Amino acid sequence: MSDCIFCKIVAKEILGETVYEDDQVLAIKDINPQAPVHLLLITKKHITSLNEVSSEDEGLMGHILMLAQKLAQKFGVAESGYRVVTNIGKEGGQAVPHLHFHVLGGKALGVHID
Ligand code: AMP
Ligand code: ZN
Repeated sequence: MSDCIFCKIVAKEILGETVYEDDQVLAIKDINPQAPVHLLLITKKHITSLNEVSSEDEGLMGHILMLAQKLAQKFGVAESGYRVVTNIGKEGGQAVPHLHFHVLGGKALGVHID
């Protein structure tokens, strides 16, 4: 989508701090990190949120979760623990309407959900 900030990052029209890239996914550092490790795993395909994922994206969803595991290892939080989150819609706190998964770690994360 032409006015989507994450599509622009995927297209390299806006520069992100890339930590990983393949044909399906771009992983960048979050610009406003909530933890010492805060990565965003962004689908290259524009999908608005988990609500819009369909059966044809099953492989992509598995791929992105396996990538979360690999990047947690690479960034040194696999043993200490980390969180993988995707926000969906208004009450889910989704600010950018392009599917992405947060990988957060490097400190003891709070357990609150609001
Ligand atoms: P969400 O609330 O789940 O939609 O999360 C959006 C995330 O994108 C937030 O954590 C922002 O800090 C992050 N973000 C927004 N713009 C950028 C950008 N240009 N580069 C990196 N991260 C960004
Ligand atoms: Zn997009």
